[in-house]
Amino acid sequence: MSGGSHFLQIPGPTNVPDRVLRAISYPTIDHRGAEFADLGRAALDGLRSVVRTEGDVVLYPASGTGAWEAALVNTLSPGDRVLMFETGHFGTLWAGVAHDLGLEVTLVPGDWRSGPDPEELERRLREDTEHLIKAVAIVHNETSTGVTSRLPHLRAAMDRAHHPALLLVDTISSLGSVDYRHDEWGVDVTVGCSQKGLMLPPGLSFNAISPKAREAAHRASLNRSYWDWAPMLEAGTKGFFPYTPATNLLYGLKEAVAMLHEEGLDSVYARHRRHAEATRRAVGTWGFETQCRVPEEHSPVLTAVVMPDGQDADALRAAILSHFDISLGAGLSRLSGRVFRIGHLGSLNDAALLGTLAGVEAGLRVAGISHRSGGVTAALEYLADTATPS
Ligand code: PLP
Repeated sequence: MSGGSHFLQIPGPTNVPDRVLRAISYPTIDHRGAEFADLGRAALDGLRSVVRTEGDVVLYPASGTGAWEAALVNTLSPGDRVLMFETGHFGTLWAGVAHDLGLEVTLVPGDWRSGPDPEELERRLREDTEHLIKAVAIVHNETSTGVTSRLPHLRAAMDRAHHPALLLVDTISSLGSVDYRHDEWGVDVTVGCSQKGLMLPPGLSFNAISPKAREAAHRASLNRSYWDWAPMLEAGTKGFFPYTPATNLLYGLKEAVAMLHEEGLDSVYARHRRHAEATRRAVGTWGFETQCRVPEEHSPVLTAVVMPDGQDADALRAAILSHFDISLGAGLSRLSGRVFRIGHLGSLNDAALLGTLAGVEAGLRVAGISHRSGGVTAALEYLADTATPS
């Protein structure tokens, strides 16, 4: 065991700030009692302020996968067509959930290096003259590849096609880190969870719901029970839940949202973009490629780094963990062993990012992987030149 703290630099779960940890440690209270209502309302209102919606939000004691399922079962009926995009591991998994639920999924093939193409979306919707497609589902930030979808462009494509499909968006690894506007961008269901930009431990996930999605829920006939919005919405108006909520995570959510607003959402997003740029400068200097190949789609949240041919990303990650006590994200499914992912989201400052990048550069040396040195210096110079006092 070495001294100091472990560096958890995977793209979620992220480091939980001390303030949030302290909030979570408050005593658990009666979730049917009067005191709870204030907490429940504050948690839901706080979430609304980050999702940027005036509308309904339901919060589940569940991981993000549950909120994926909730978005589908509340709005759709067996056999409904859903247009989804193979952006990477998570886009593909969500399509699998939809398929398992009995929906007819069209998965637009992708190269796992770019986001959905707005022109292709527009074309597919225009071709659907009978409006058989009931929903378009998009992963905002594809955590397996480090690609952020251009949501405003995708929304504009749907509007140009004058297509009435619902827009369902997974913000699981973007919310609280990347600019996001549920109401302004005309999103019908936002899917999110606690353990990434919201700086909480895993265990909470949610749906934000537009009036159009609520309307669709009245007609939707997929079976639902645990995920049913109706009892959640009814209890939620009074700050309560139909079943036992994750009370202590709600304390944490209230605190985390307060921290995001103290920094200012726009400043939080700018910090993430700046850390991503510093990371890419390091990666480029080392002589490696990023998995994302579209400059305007580089993720502010994580950078997936492609290993040189014949080198194993998992062996490198193991060397970095054992020598420098830093956890980095693994390549997922078809990218297994071929990329490693540097998470730079959530509670992170310049020093921690530089420490992480130094650990990666040192790890490349330990593992004997050919690279150019100077990546950390490139990141350091960029951070120093753009630094402002906190
Ligand atoms: N969607 C995205 C973009 C994710 O990054 C993840 C998990 O990392 C999920 C969905 C699945 O969420 P969970 O693992 O919390 O069920």
